[in-house]
Amino acid sequence: MLFTWWRNRRRKKILAVPIPDHWKTILDQNVSQLSQLTAQQRALLYQRVQIFVKEKYWEGCNGFQITEEVKLTIAGQACLLTLGFASDCFDRLKTILVYPDTYVAKESLLNSIGVLTEGTSFRLGESWGQGPIVLSWESIYEGGQTPDDGRNVVVHEFAHYYDAVDRQFDGTPPLNSAEEYERWNRVMTAEYQSLVAQLQHGHTTFIDPYGATNPAEFFAVCSEHFFEQPRQMREYSEDLYETLKLFYQQDPASAV
Ligand SMILES: [Zn+2]
Repeated sequence: MLFTWWRNRRRKKILAVPIPDHWKTILDQNVSQLSQLTAQQRALLYQRVQIFVKEKYWEGCNGFQITEEVKLTIAGQACLLTLGFASDCFDRLKTILVYPDTYVAKESLLNSIGVLTEGTSFRLGESWGQGPIVLSWESIYEGGQTPDDGRNVVVHEFAHYYDAVDRQFDGTPPLNSAEEYERWNRVMTAEYQSLVAQLQHGHTTFIDPYGATNPAEFFAVCSEHFFEQPRQMREYSEDLYETLKLFYQQDPASAV
């Protein structure tokens, strides 16, 4: 309670200062979806960005320098996801780590027969539930420059954040009602299975094949298509589009 009061007070102070014009310029340059927003959505995005930039702890890795441009580009792309929600600045997320480009991470994988493989993998980003979000600047920048290729690593990792808010990394973010859970399970399971089947038959798919990895990746990949290619997604599957629209409380396919 006291913490919420203190946080609201601090946010009021942050928002008492208008967003600098050169921040708006950077956002326009590096968050291409901004051009699709209404004036009201844009004003809300600016506020969320101001809070996000100030409240998160930013750390550059492998010698990478965190600049104003880096913070604004990540904040601008991430806050797009929040525009349908009454109040959301990814409050549980404290730290964002940024690498200059693809980075190598040590990992251990347990397969279905219980064998643990340890090795390394090249990554563009990762999200650790309640922990930090790790991103690579090269792919963040590309994601903001190409608005309609269906790929956006920031959207992807922050969709994982929502998925893990309930501490279950299972492709189902917290929803508002039993009906929404029923719909989510029905539609997302059918669409996931359809993607897996299309790939097994060697078909080219609208949804990025990485979405077939597991239901958590499916939700994150579908979120990328939802924000980057909303009209194509609605054409591909109205059910899938409507389910994400209901969750994000946004309708980007209807934007002018
Ligand atoms: Zn992922």
